[in-house]
Amino acid sequence: MMRKPFIAGNWKMNMTPTEGAAFAKKLRDALGQSDVRVLVAPPFVTIPSVIEVLRGSSIEVGAQNMSDQKSGAHTGEVSAAMLKDLGVKTVILGHSERRSIYGESDHFINDKVLLALSEGMEVILCIGETLSEREGGQLEAVLTTQVSEGLKGVAAEDMGRVTLAYEPVWAIGTGKTATPEDADSAHAFIRALVAKLYNEGVAEELIIQYGGSVKADNAKALLSKEHIDGALVGGASLSVEQFLPIVNFDK
Ligand code: PEP
Repeated sequence: MMRKPFIAGNWKMNMTPTEGAAFAKKLRDALGQSDVRVLVAPPFVTIPSVIEVLRGSSIEVGAQNMSDQKSGAHTGEVSAAMLKDLGVKTVILGHSERRSIYGESDHFINDKVLLALSEGMEVILCIGETLSEREGGQLEAVLTTQVSEGLKGVAAEDMGRVTLAYEPVWAIGTGKTATPEDADSAHAFIRALVAKLYNEGVAEELIIQYGGSVKADNAKALLSKEHIDGALVGGASLSVEQFLPIVNFDK
């Protein structure tokens, strides 16, 4: 089974609409043809200018978050319908910064996952343990909870629109990376879990991205592993010079 590599750039709270458009133009011109699925996730307000530049290009534009509600009195929130109206088809949910800084629970994230899927969108669901959880021997328990709660109520036939991103919290933005072996073994555990929750076919086709200080010089070693099908890239996605070699890891 060949899973098509999927590299996503999470810009976090960086890039104004003007900066994002300039960056997208530079990335588009540098990328050319690619066998890899590529997505950038700008801040909400930067999405329109980036979409405008990337129209007709193979680079997709996603969102970093969305509301758990459809519409109405939810000050400061952005709905699935608003994102879809812009042409956004994919949303990152449950990023560790959403969990740790903004208190998003597995239950709350699950509501968003179900809403995004019911709205016909694709989801990148982020999971991953903290350092103390890993050191306390809780890795498998944490992943089991985050996957089974995050995907609660998701039908097998909708799993083709779900990507999981394994992002050990201690490796995000720290310059520390899980070794390819440690990351691969976590990915294998996640895939086996999905086989148990769904079936072997769903698990075989599931794209599992690794995230946590992915850079040009470690991308190939990580992405060569059997169960690592892509990357969710933070810091290194903010520079074309750093992001492009990650996308081109296999060239
Ligand atoms: C992320 O925020 O998803 C991430 C992996 O960040 P970084 O690549 O900077 O560690």
